[in-house]
Amino acid sequence: MKRRAGCHSLRVTLSHRSFAMSHNFLQPLTGSFAMPAAENPTVAMVEAAYRHHGLDWRYINCEVAPEALGDAVRGARAMGWRGFNCSIPHKVAVIEHLDGLGESAQIIGAVNTIVRRGDELIGENTDGKGFVKALSDVVDPTGKTVVLFGAGGAARAVGVELALAGAARISVVNRGRARGEEVAGLLNARTRAEADYIAWEGTFKVPVGTDIVINATSIGLFPKVEETLDLDTDTLMPTMVVADGIHNPPLTRLLKAAQARGCRTVDGLGMLVGQGVIGIKYWTGIDADPAVMRQALLDLKL
Ligand code: NDP
Repeated sequence: MKRRAGCHSLRVTLSHRSFAMSHNFLQPLTGSFAMPAAENPTVAMVEAAYRHHGLDWRYINCEVAPEALGDAVRGARAMGWRGFNCSIPHKVAVIEHLDGLGESAQIIGAVNTIVRRGDELIGENTDGKGFVKALSDVVDPTGKTVVLFGAGGAARAVGVELALAGAARISVVNRGRARGEEVAGLLNARTRAEADYIAWEGTFKVPVGTDIVINATSIGLFPKVEETLDLDTDTLMPTMVVADGIHNPPLTRLLKAAQARGCRTVDGLGMLVGQGVIGIKYWTGIDADPAVMRQALLDLKL
């Protein structure tokens, strides 16, 4: 009886050893630092892509307070994270903790994606790149005339990337004059696009000849889904592409009105998925399937 038990335990030890040697339990880590973090759906979208492509990687959604950001970045370095996203309120503050910036992040002055390249953490901005990627499935921005509503972080990122992608003319329409003029000035100074600021006074009429109309304000975001831009929707023409940065809900009042006018539309889920695809490419080198990521977001029933 004793001998049998001994044999058994030897077999267990051997099989345990071979098991341990054929597996790698060290998963490459990515994630997000933001505050608040609980309502950010990116983790569902990115981990769906990791699973679909057979990547044994993790994306960890972390709530990080502003005063803890430096420690969080040092922690990510120490733990060998492959990269991470930064969202509100860290997009500008994170820059001082990084080793360098990509071209558009430098112009935008904000970072939403950090990539480990060798021993360095480099800041990129994929908000605008994701938008341009989603838009480009419908229309090539090269040489186009754009009306851009908003002048916050999202509008800045979208404006810069559209200009770098070859948009000819960008009119920034914003409620606050100072922010609107600043974004138009930035585009004129740092890109080849011709930009101007148009004051948003009363109901806005989209100028004839506009190719692309974009909502990069926070108007229409859940729970205020009934709010919409003060815009004369009769001035939307079927030749125009209308895009909305709001991803919750995906079909905003603006997009519904645009579709009713015969315009082609691009929703905010496209922007969210587009930036996720680019982030995953930066971190893993894989071209993730946007359809899988979009479905993961739709499954959440936001
Ligand atoms: P900011 O707070 O930096 O900017 C908000 C913008 O909206 C400003 O231009 C502000 O104008 C304008 N605005 C807000 N309320 C009103 C109103 N009632 N009337 C007129 N203008 C208004 O936010 P962000 O730029 O960071 O984000 C904007 C939106 O973009 C968010 O709602 C977010 O959901 C979306 N976004 C989507 C992403 C995606 O992947 N789909 C990625 C990043 C952002 P003013 O300057 O006059 O205050």
